Amino acid sequence: MLKSEERKIITDAIREIPDFPKPGIIFKDISTILNNAEAFGLLMDHLKERYISMELDFVAGIDARGFIFGAALARDLGVGFVPVRKKGKLPYTTISEKYSLEYGFDEVEIHIDAFRGIKDARVLLIDDLIATGGTAFAAANLIEKSGGKCIESCFIMSLDFLGGSKKLENIAPVYSVLGES
Ligand code: AMP
Repeated sequence: MLKSEERKIITDAIREIPDFPKPGIIFKDISTILNNAEAFGLLMDHLKERYISMELDFVAGIDARGFIFGAALARDLGVGFVPVRKKGKLPYTTISEKYSLEYGFDEVEIHIDAFRGIKDARVLLIDDLIATGGTAFAAANLIEKSGGKCIESCFIMSLDFLGGSKKLENIAPVYSVLGES
């Protein structure tokens, strides 16, 4: 469990940028967690403590900020890391999943052999933030389609008013370190 002063150190390390990348969006910048050794350390220690006993086989991170937390956590847990990437970036055979944006579609992909043939591999999905949940929902579906089992989806923070966590909970439990932001 995070102590309230630890939670405050992590929360205070997130920089809010109004009107980025477009008017009306308050962008939650986590680069200011990463360059703050105390906040980054507290966050990663907390995630290790939460997931060390869940018998995970892999951590899967969402392009691109999920790679940073996911790879660090996988190393801390002694398990493998799997990238879920935006379309066209993975070089080998992929499985892909489309999801809708405000206007149009986007697509994420995973390597077909990402879980190395381990049957029902136990996978934790991770990203920095869940908003509408479209990206994470597609990523969790990809985990299931490629033979894994999504044990939980983890985010540093969640914009709950957009309903993403509720949608994602249909696939697997959702955990947000800092709760609603
Ligand atoms: P969504 O598919 O709507 O849940 O969007 C989640 C993805 O968009 C994540 O990879 C986030 O990093 C990014 N994202 C969405 N909204 C924000 C925000 N306000 N600040 C920072 N990142 C965001």
